[in-house]
Amino acid sequence: MEIPREEIPWFPSINYEKCIRCLTCVKMCPHNVYGVEGNEPRPIVKNPYECAVGCQSCAKMCPSNAINFPSTEELRKILRELRQKYSR
Ligand code: SF4
Ligand code: SF4
Repeated sequence: MEIPREEIPWFPSINYEKCIRCLTCVKMCPHNVYGVEGNEPRPIVKNPYECAVGCQSCAKMCPSNAINFPSTEELRKILRELRQKYSR
C-alpha cells in the first residue's frame, strides 16, 4: 500500500530572520510549494505536501541559507517506520 503523502513530514521551513525576500525559492520550485504574501512580499510554504520527498533544490539555491528540511537520517527513519505501518 502506498504511504499517503500527508504522513511524510518533508517540506521546507523558512527562517524569516535570515530570509532576504529575494523570492528565488518561489520562482524556482517546479511544484508550486511556495506562495507569496504581504505588501513587502515574502515567501510562504503554501502547499507543503506538493514538495518532492528528498528534494532540497530550493534550500541549495537560497542565498541566505534560510530554508531548512529534516535531516536525511530523520527522513530515512520516518520512511522506515511508515513502510512498516503500511505493509501490515
Ligand atoms: S530563496 Fe531564501 S532568501 Fe530568497 S526568498 Fe526564499 S527563503 Fe528567502
Ligand atoms: S525541495 Fe524541491 S519540490 Fe520542495 S519546495 Fe524546494 S524546490 Fe520545491
